Amino acid sequence: MKEVRVRFAPSPTGYLHVGGARTALYNWLFARNRGGKFLLRIENTDVKRSSKEMEEYIKEAMLWLGLNWDEDIVYQLDRLEIYRKYANELIEKGLAYYCYTPPEELNKEGGGVECFEVNPDEYRDKPLAIKFRVPNEGTTEFDDIIRGHITFQNKDHGDFVIVRSDGIPTYNFAVVVDDHYMGITHVIRGEDHIPNTPKQILVYRAFGWDVPEFAHLPMILGPDKKRLSKRHGATSVLEYRDIGILPEALFNFLALLGWSPGDNREIVPKEEMIKLFDLKRVGKRAAVFDLDKLYWINSEYIRMKSDEELYELALPFVEKAGLVKTEADREKFRKVVPLLKERVKLLRDFVDLSEYFFRDVESYDEKGVKKHFKAGVEERLKLLVERLEKLDRFDEKSIEEVVRSLADELGVSAAKIIHPTRLAVTGRTFGPGLFELMAVLGKDECIKRLKHAIKWLEERKS
Ligand code: GLU
Repeated sequence: MKEVRVRFAPSPTGYLHVGGARTALYNWLFARNRGGKFLLRIENTDVKRSSKEMEEYIKEAMLWLGLNWDEDIVYQLDRLEIYRKYANELIEKGLAYYCYTPPEELNKEGGGVECFEVNPDEYRDKPLAIKFRVPNEGTTEFDDIIRGHITFQNKDHGDFVIVRSDGIPTYNFAVVVDDHYMGITHVIRGEDHIPNTPKQILVYRAFGWDVPEFAHLPMILGPDKKRLSKRHGATSVLEYRDIGILPEALFNFLALLGWSPGDNREIVPKEEMIKLFDLKRVGKRAAVFDLDKLYWINSEYIRMKSDEELYELALPFVEKAGLVKTEADREKFRKVVPLLKERVKLLRDFVDLSEYFFRDVESYDEKGVKKHFKAGVEERLKLLVERLEKLDRFDEKSIEEVVRSLADELGVSAAKIIHPTRLAVTGRTFGPGLFELMAVLGKDECIKRLKHAIKWLEERKS
């Protein structure tokens, strides 16, 4: 059997977004499933809008997602001679012709006159484009792996430009010359390219080349069923990285935008996806992008990390935020990570959720104050401070014992001590287990914060 060869062919005119990333990912999965090759081609013929910076961005985003390519990158701009050579071949066969657009027509509103066929000898020093001759009758048909049989009437196309007068090939021509050169067996791309496919097939046939198979992927919509955009929280791939989405989570999420492993599983390890991936299981219906789902998948992948791995992954976020600065901070953060592991959706959440471990509590949650800082609470907190001061070992267990025995003695529920204490030492009403977090904060810090809260309560009274 022929080796499977697929490619991702981005234009470096913008960032890599969800749609492009999913296209790249399906190509990659397909290649890995079939033991084939995944190639990268940079379609940089739009010189004005393309940039090296965007190319670098796309490559960085692909590698971050784990979408490695198997051969040297092909650049269209390096191949202008080749497109020209092939266009000439079509002219010689009578399947393409030179055409000329008078300059006064070029920028005319409404398009001006079409490029009309000319004899190149008579237009020697004029800029000439090359047009492909499309038959006036008949149909061009193909069997799309996802969409099924598709038929186009040739008469609907009209001749189309394949090389512009500046020598730059058009997309529909370059893509065929390149896919043939790269030995592409399957073209997997967005369904917005379906109308281009018959033109490309006509070019393949004109050369007598094998036509690859096509698989056109369904669109991606926002939850409101409108075209996906920033409004839906969809951003470029590296922006997801920068808020603390794990690459394996985004990979999992993107893979499920249109494909499923055949059951209702939402978390599918990459190795298994490679084994199960099948273009026949890609749906025709538009996929819906749901940011909450991405966050949920991310939290699942976060929990699968060991504490140490997660510490390494989260550290850059808290360092960048200026929370963790010293070696002592890092040691403390190492202990904070397991406490918050179940609570974060994004690595970035570590910044907010761990803030009070590294900064003084400057204010108390307002609702918490109303609910938990009620009359008589200072007395309870004072007694707690006295008992905590006597502790030699300030660990989870001994703190819990102190709190529970104090509650017993006072004849109140433990909650009546736990909630105000949490508010006093963290400023918040929610968070990880109180005793664990107090142990991480340490005895001196807890007592300092409790005393501060007692003072705050007393001042408020007077
Ligand atoms: N440069 C084209 C795009 O980004 C490639 C389309 C194709 O895969 O043929 O849409």
